[in-house]
Amino acid sequence: MRLLVVEDEKTLADLIKEGLEEEGFSVDVAYDGQEGLFMAQNEPFDLVVLDIMLPEIDGMEILKSMRNNKITTPVLMLTAKSDVEDKVSALNIGADDYLTKPFSFEELLARIKAVLRRNFKEASNIIRIADLKLDLSTREVERAGKKIDLTAREYALLEYLALNKNRLLTRTDITEHIYNYEFDFDSNVVDVTVTRLRKKIDKDFKKKLIHTVRGVGYMIKEEE
Ligand code: CA
Repeated sequence: MRLLVVEDEKTLADLIKEGLEEEGFSVDVAYDGQEGLFMAQNEPFDLVVLDIMLPEIDGMEILKSMRNNKITTPVLMLTAKSDVEDKVSALNIGADDYLTKPFSFEELLARIKAVLRRNFKEASNIIRIADLKLDLSTREVERAGKKIDLTAREYALLEYLALNKNRLLTRTDITEHIYNYEFDFDSNVVDVTVTRLRKKIDKDFKKKLIHTVRGVGYMIKEEE
């Protein structure tokens, strides 16, 4: 999952980025409103954490522009004010949730996961595909009741495939959603990661879940 954090307090922004990366997210940071708006409009993020008080363009204006331009990326607003009016107007112009500063990282993380889950229409934190089970909150993976250890990248890829189950994802879809801006898009790292993932979740099982669509990309599904 790829997230954008728009926050001008550098220490806080970098702390959020670091924490989210430890949780397996790919994170880009914009330190002012102009850069934030540009990135939100031009890169396919899965969620934007958006501060309201920003230099150049404030968070409310960014959110308004995004929604006016039909950009439906979920937005979680950060506000320094406990002002009810601010929260109400953020929700009215299309924010998916908000958090008042100061907040704990645990609460930010829980809210981000809840917004993402709603956006992918998942009712719970558990995704099942045949006998494969993913727990989105603990990032634990099991197949046929046996725990499978995955690297952060392998998990990120599996989670993205699982949230989009039965949908064909191109290599571009995958790279854009599981790597951040600094990633080298020319490499064949997606194929390499898929190969490693297959060894862990498909190799020892009769029913294969990860399917290749030659020349296009990958899909996870139950049926052959
Ligand atoms: Ca700020």
